[in-house]
Amino acid sequence: MLRSLQDKVTVLPGIGEKKEQLLSKLGIRTLEDLLHWFPRRYVDRRKVWQIRHAPEGEEVCVCGVVAQQPTTAYPRKGLSTTRLRVFDRSGLLYLTFFNQAYTAGRLKVGESYIFCGKIERMGQRLSMTNPVYEPEGVGEMTGRIVPVYPLTAGISARQLAEWIDMAVESTALPEDLPQEVRLAYGLAERNWSIQTIHRPDSFENLNRARERLVFEELFYLTAGLELLHARRSEGQGFLCRPLLTERYEKLLPFTLTGAQRRTLEEIFRDQASGKIMNRLVQGDVGSGKTAVAAGAVWQCVHSGGQCALMAPTEILAVQHYHTLTELLTPDGIRVGLLTGSSKAAEKREVKQQLAEGTLDLVVGTHALLSDGVEFAHLGLVVTDEQHRFGVEQRSALSAKAGARKPHVLVMSATPIPRTLALIIYGDLDVSVIGERPPGRQDVDTFLVGEDKRQRMMGFIRKQVQEGHQAYVVCPAVEESEDMPVPLKNATDHARALQQAFPDLRIGLVHGRMKSKEKEQIMDAFLQGEVDVLVSTTVIEVGVDAPNATLMVIEDADRFGLSQLHQLRGRVGRGKAKSFCVLVSSTKNEETRQRLKALCSTNDGFKIAEKDLELRGPGDFFGARQHGLPQLQMADLACDTRILYQAREAAQQLLTEDPTLAKPEHRVVLDRTRRLFEENPDIFN
Ligand code: ADP
Ligand code: MG
Repeated sequence: MLRSLQDKVTVLPGIGEKKEQLLSKLGIRTLEDLLHWFPRRYVDRRKVWQIRHAPEGEEVCVCGVVAQQPTTAYPRKGLSTTRLRVFDRSGLLYLTFFNQAYTAGRLKVGESYIFCGKIERMGQRLSMTNPVYEPEGVGEMTGRIVPVYPLTAGISARQLAEWIDMAVESTALPEDLPQEVRLAYGLAERNWSIQTIHRPDSFENLNRARERLVFEELFYLTAGLELLHARRSEGQGFLCRPLLTERYEKLLPFTLTGAQRRTLEEIFRDQASGKIMNRLVQGDVGSGKTAVAAGAVWQCVHSGGQCALMAPTEILAVQHYHTLTELLTPDGIRVGLLTGSSKAAEKREVKQQLAEGTLDLVVGTHALLSDGVEFAHLGLVVTDEQHRFGVEQRSALSAKAGARKPHVLVMSATPIPRTLALIIYGDLDVSVIGERPPGRQDVDTFLVGEDKRQRMMGFIRKQVQEGHQAYVVCPAVEESEDMPVPLKNATDHARALQQAFPDLRIGLVHGRMKSKEKEQIMDAFLQGEVDVLVSTTVIEVGVDAPNATLMVIEDADRFGLSQLHQLRGRVGRGKAKSFCVLVSSTKNEETRQRLKALCSTNDGFKIAEKDLELRGPGDFFGARQHGLPQLQMADLACDTRILYQAREAAQQLLTEDPTLAKPEHRVVLDRTRRLFEENPDIFN
């Protein structure tokens, strides 16, 4: 009997109220949901080995005849062991089941069963513990490629597999990719693919099915983002006068790099086009994104627009405020600062000036998003280090402009692999600053253990003696009792360094300090009044002190690769040779390899790819932070080729039918809408 995809799971035998609830915890409510509950992995149980010849240590299937009535013992409370022997032509196998006394009643002497598990050898004796088994010839759990599903407590693997099988058998999924797309990319049919994902008959077919489903997922996602992009750019943008980058450059203490100039020209063109700019500027740490952002502001203000620049941390906002004030006020541009810790009177004044239109640029943190911040004529919104914000926050600031949407410029360092950037920033045009200012050298990076601490201390002193400054980053603020292994904490470490270097000026900054204090210390460091700044990761993003040449990171194994790269990016910003020392005593080989990857390259892209590979995209931004739909099937670290194809297909479809108005594209529109259902804010 064919059932509807929207039928509740309770139509299946064995699913009552209780199981229904458990399933709904997994988000499974309908048969369609069951079909889209994909296996986490597969085990190949097609081959049946002879007991003596099966490889040891990996999961194998053997076919054995039960040689004796199983016996069950209860060695202690809560533990039962059921033992028996089985044999085939090649030999004997000892089986042990823990806490599965019921197996004794199921395994009949003299009958054949398939047992799957790992074979272990002790001398001549072969054994297997807790195997999966079924009578020979049944072919449900064995004899095929068996899917392994993610589970929840209260539902067994066997049950879930059975229900999914029933759903597969009793439904038929309609094809929903446009025929021309399916043919152009040689994709398998939808229904076949779903069936094959759940019951693959070969790994080749499994791959074909997976490819189709990944494509489908990425196709709808990118189609949605394209629509979003189109909608973002709808309407008239703040019209800027076309200005020359050369004029702006006169304000700068340096000449722009080629990449900076190209990027700026793109921005100038966007802002003078009459359309709304939505542009991402991607550039590795130290590539000089601030000067580009300042240029965009300069053009906008010169055309009578107001600008807002939002930074993810207070330290960075304050620093930008100083840099931009210095750069832009000589040209008559009025700059203000607004953060959570600005004094009430200051806040009031800045807000008033923004509303009146007497302030041209406001620099701030997400305090800029708060109520009561209004602009007279907002023309441009810049967010720095965008990967720290979600998509919604970016939109929220634009919304401040009222009916007329401002230009949007997003600055981001590259610890975003290209694939992920395509998704997260799929709604933006992208400029890449792939070049660093002249005279920059790579930061030499070393991994050292505790045994090298004395030498490292000598190195800190040497850098300071040469007139430079150093950062020392610790993973914790202060001593904590709940850490199993004590981590270096900034507070104690600063004290220890002061004792070791009584003649040096040691500073301390961390997130729990008051903003004013933080600001004072950062200021002192920027002015060269502090030699060594001990801190937590509050200095991770954006901070720019070109005289600092040494970055020491304590307990470096505690940090992610991209984070370490960002931290390292705090040095190597001036002309002098810079160094980064990763201190870690970890014995974990994988962690050491990870840290070594950082020693071997300064290329943010490469590091980001590696990080994505090691940690997966979920961790990259804190799963939901970016506000985009979760991917069920696609793996952005591996599915790059399919991503590009799916995106190309989606773009082509939308060129032909920009609003998906044609009847045959109705399904595409529906699916895309549904995909973004949970995030209506970004899709309206
Ligand atoms: P990021 O891209 O990490 O935000 P910044 O904008 O903070 O980088 O710039 C890093 C440093 O390089 C700053 O000290 C800045 O003044 C300097 N800088 C930027 N562009 C140039 C350039 N074209 N020539 C020389 N120095 C530059
Ligand atoms: Mg920056």
